[in-house]
Amino acid sequence: MQRERVSENVYWFQSEVYAQVTAGAVIGPQWAVLIDTLIPQETSLIKDFLEKDLMVPVRYIIDSHHHADHSWGNSFFPDAIIIGHSLCRELMLTKSRSALEEAGQDNPFLRDIAIVPPHITFSEGTISLRVGKKQLQIFCTSGHTADSISVLVEEDRILFAGDAFMAVPYIVGGSLEEALKTINHIGKMSLENIVQGHGDIILRGEIEDACASNLAYLHSIQKIAKAALRRRDPLQFLQAQDIEASGKSRVSLGGVAEELHQNNLRALFKEILREREAE
Ligand SMILES: [Zn+2]
Repeated sequence: MQRERVSENVYWFQSEVYAQVTAGAVIGPQWAVLIDTLIPQETSLIKDFLEKDLMVPVRYIIDSHHHADHSWGNSFFPDAIIIGHSLCRELMLTKSRSALEEAGQDNPFLRDIAIVPPHITFSEGTISLRVGKKQLQIFCTSGHTADSISVLVEEDRILFAGDAFMAVPYIVGGSLEEALKTINHIGKMSLENIVQGHGDIILRGEIEDACASNLAYLHSIQKIAKAALRRRDPLQFLQAQDIEASGKSRVSLGGVAEELHQNNLRALFKEILREREAE
């Protein structure tokens, strides 16, 4: 796991195992807030750093959304209060519980963890949380999933975006239209840093380009998915559409970028097909 101090009392963690997934922590004098948990195989590294090195317990965990690589480490902190979208709670109680059971069959490590859904939930507006001298604003950023939320550290203008912002936007199970709105909104927030759910931290001078690149990528895949409708073999056509042609690097996200891109294309195509059939 990589670790970096982003500003005073604000830390960033990045997985060295899975798709450069990230997590964050904001440290107060008595306790800390953890934002996402990485995959459970790495959660204890964060726990040791916060509780043994910095000697602060984790009182709150904010789950950016229900996906395994962000929220399955919750059970490492049995005393923490979990905050998330109300839909995140719902999905963790249903989808995540059965997914964990299934994953545990091949991976004994997972048999010792449990899905802990958010205790405090919301589905619109903002939740404010004060930790030491920092004010956190937690708000909805749907697109990647309908239960996505992000966390702004107000004083530092650092946004922990979760998967609402990634090196390659991923909208399977989410909504392209919502993702466009969210990225547009993030671009206007006058931020110092965007902490992406996967990938490296984006610095102030890079934010405009990163937003433009993600918006262009989404428009590009939308166009490709529509073009596939006119092809004799749409799936073969989609498969031939390299990620680089949509303006993104094949080598980002620990090598899974092309796979995410192909999943995006297929999901969008199926969605367009469903809409056409319903008309
Ligand atoms: Zn995700």
